[in-house]
Parts: sequence; structure tokens; C-alpha cells
Amino acid sequence: MLVPSLVCPANRLRSRCHSLDDNEQKGGEGEGKNSPGGQTKVSAMVLAWLSFLTVAVAVPMSAAERIAIVWPTPNEAFAQGKPDSDILQQAGSGDPASGGFGCVRSNGHQFHEGIDIRAMTRDRRGEPTDEIYAAMDGVVRYICQRAGESSYGRYVVLEHPGVTPAVYTLYAHLSATAPGLSVGQSVTRGQVIATMGHTAGGYAIPRDRAHLHFEIGLWVTRDFQSWYSGRGFGSPNEHGFYNGMNLMGFDPLDFLRQFRAKKVDNFAEYLSHMEVAVRLKIATTRTPDFVQRYPRCSRNRCHCSWVAGKSK
Ligand SMILES: [Zn+2]
Repeated sequence: MLVPSLVCPANRLRSRCHSLDDNEQKGGEGEGKNSPGGQTKVSAMVLAWLSFLTVAVAVPMSAAERIAIVWPTPNEAFAQGKPDSDILQQAGSGDPASGGFGCVRSNGHQFHEGIDIRAMTRDRRGEPTDEIYAAMDGVVRYICQRAGESSYGRYVVLEHPGVTPAVYTLYAHLSATAPGLSVGQSVTRGQVIATMGHTAGGYAIPRDRAHLHFEIGLWVTRDFQSWYSGRGFGSPNEHGFYNGMNLMGFDPLDFLRQFRAKKVDNFAEYLSHMEVAVRLKIATTRTPDFVQRYPRCSRNRCHCSWVAGKSK
């Protein structure tokens, strides 16, 4: 069934959020431009990634409805079909692709697990003022207010139980979160959750490259802490389950393009269309946590009676 009304639920947001089901143009408030800001998260959980790639392609075609999703900032370039240079914030090289998803930096050696959306409006000091919107109905799962403790800077993670699989969305480098926003709170699609910024820990994002780092993806494991503790990183995990290394993003822009073109209606369909990168056999005596949390991402049930193994 098609859900054609991909507009913000609240009237006050209706003029600012972008339906991703069409190319309609709506009154915006802004102009402005800037340049890069790069934040890169290099996932150390290669095995988990490979597992994800394998599992992802096993997502069965879903008869689920067309989801409702909005662009997470006032930037109208995507809705207007403009080129990536109007959408993405380049990361210093001048190439808009460096603000995109994938191995887009350091001559392909650095993986960027989201997209950087450029700012549209600034105050007198040149600070970005773009509001940040919840992309879908969801629940606030994590708010990091200690900007120096993560390469994400100040960031918010939402979970979206209303879609299958229940993806997370992540909004990073924020200057501030919306007043009163709290963990456990339900948010509606298009609701203002924060203000764009250029906060980051461990490196600096120039003000003129301020942007929203935006991710859509899945969590790797509930048991992240034990994995982290065993790796000897030399610093405590300040973010628990919501550490970026426990988040596996896929390309938001690619998904949104396919969604807008009506090639896919939801995440299950999108994942099922992914090309197989690798196939793994995992020896385990228990059903993997990932499979338990995302049962629709498994083509077959685990036959735990004959799946067994031991680690060396
Ligand atoms: Zn980024």
C-alpha cells in the first residue's frame, strides 16, 4: 500500500520539511553555503560488517508499506533534484563526493559511514542555524552532550521501531539539542530535535564546513561492551551500546534516491536488493544476537541443533 503523504505531521513544520516522495518545493528559509567538515568513523568490527553484508542480502522481499521519511535538514537540494554539490558538504578536498558514503576520503582508504549535509543558514558569526529534524517517527535512544568524547561531537541516536528492520538514525556534530529532548522520548517525523553545528572530539571541523553527519543503519550487537573491553583500546567506552563502532550504516543518499524513484518502498526491500559482497559461514552454538534483533534479516531460521563450533 502506498502512503503518499510524506509530509511533516505538524503544521508548523509543514513548510520546512521535505517530502521524499516527490520533488515538490517548499518555502525554505535559507540560502547559505559552506564547505567541508569531515568526520570519519572507521569500523573495527570487520567481521560484523561482513556478517551484515551477508545477512542483509538475505532480507526477504517485504510486503510492508511504503515508509514515511523526511529529509533531516532544511536543505531542499535533494528534494529539488539538484546535484550532490548542493547537498553534500565536501570534506576539504573540494570534491562533493567526500561528503558522501563509503571510501570517499584519503584516496579511498578512509570509510565514511554516513553523509554530510551542508548548512543553509548562518547567524552573524557564521555559525550554522539549520534545524535538524527526526527523519521518521521514532524514539530517542541516546544523546551525547559531551562533544569532546566522540568524533561525532554532540550527537543524537533515534531508533525507529515502526519500520522493518527497526533502523537507527544518527545526527552528529550538533551545536545543541532541542530543549527538553530526552532519552526515551517519542519523536514524530519532522520534529525539530537539534541545531546543526560543527562539534567534534579529537579533531576540529572548521565553521565554514559545518554540516549534519547523518546515518541510517543497524546495531551490531548488544554485547558490544565485552567486545570493546577485550580490544584494549586504552580508553573507556563512553557511549555504551551507542558507540559508533557498534553502528553499521548504509548509504542514506542511495536509499533515499531509490525510495524517491519508487524502486523501493522500505528498508527491507532496499537491503534485499543489495549486491552480495561476501558470504560467510559462522560457527556458533547460539543464535547470533543480530539475528535475534533483526529476524526479518534472516532468510532461514537458525538450525541451532546442528550449528555448532568452538573458537580457538
Ligand atoms: Zn560525516
